[in-house]
Amino acid sequence: MSATHIHPSTTLPRHSKEVLLKQKGCVLWLCGLSGSGKSTIANALEHVLHDKGRFVIRLDGDNLRTGLNSNLGFSDEDRLENIRRTAELAKVLADNGVIVLCSLITPRGHLRDLARGILGDDFAEIYVKADYATCEARDPKGLYAKAAAGEVKQFTGKDSSFEEPQEPDLILDTEKLSVQDSTFEVLEFLRNKGIAS
Ligand code: ADP
Repeated sequence: MSATHIHPSTTLPRHSKEVLLKQKGCVLWLCGLSGSGKSTIANALEHVLHDKGRFVIRLDGDNLRTGLNSNLGFSDEDRLENIRRTAELAKVLADNGVIVLCSLITPRGHLRDLARGILGDDFAEIYVKADYATCEARDPKGLYAKAAAGEVKQFTGKDSSFEEPQEPDLILDTEKLSVQDSTFEVLEFLRNKGIAS
């Protein structure tokens, strides 16, 4: 659809918001299989960063699917739109100085490329890594049991593929790292990038 008649209004500069918040806006995009630990790590990070006085907003794939993305399913087309909307929302937040933690499976390279394309330099890809068997054993939402019983269609890692990220900015191997270790790794990453200390 053409948007030639739309004239976005200017807002207070991003830098002003970042000075106010004493941080830089960024989007940490946590991808990985269901049960790999994305939400658990994002939740721990949000608490630690909040306690340090940082302003953080979490965008969780499951939560967004109950609202903004409630009309989307798991077809390739809908997964793409799910990522596009989430990345656009994250962009608005990062442009206002917010540290955004996105936790979405984001199973394929082209989906992560889409998010990267929308977010540019604000995008950091964090691969929360655990193999199918480990996630199946954890099964925090009971989805793996349902998938094994054929009750979940297009389940990622089973009937729908998960392509491992080729060059993520950070890998959190949750088969080896505790939640605390992973949180520490991300804090180090933010410090090294000058985003927040
Ligand atoms: P996702 O958001 O990736 O679907 P969740 O964070 O909801 O995954 O679930 C991960 C589950 O694995 C939680 O029950 C968590 O307690 C458990 N878990 C066990 N070990 C770890 C670890 N080292 N890092 C993160 N989560 C872990």
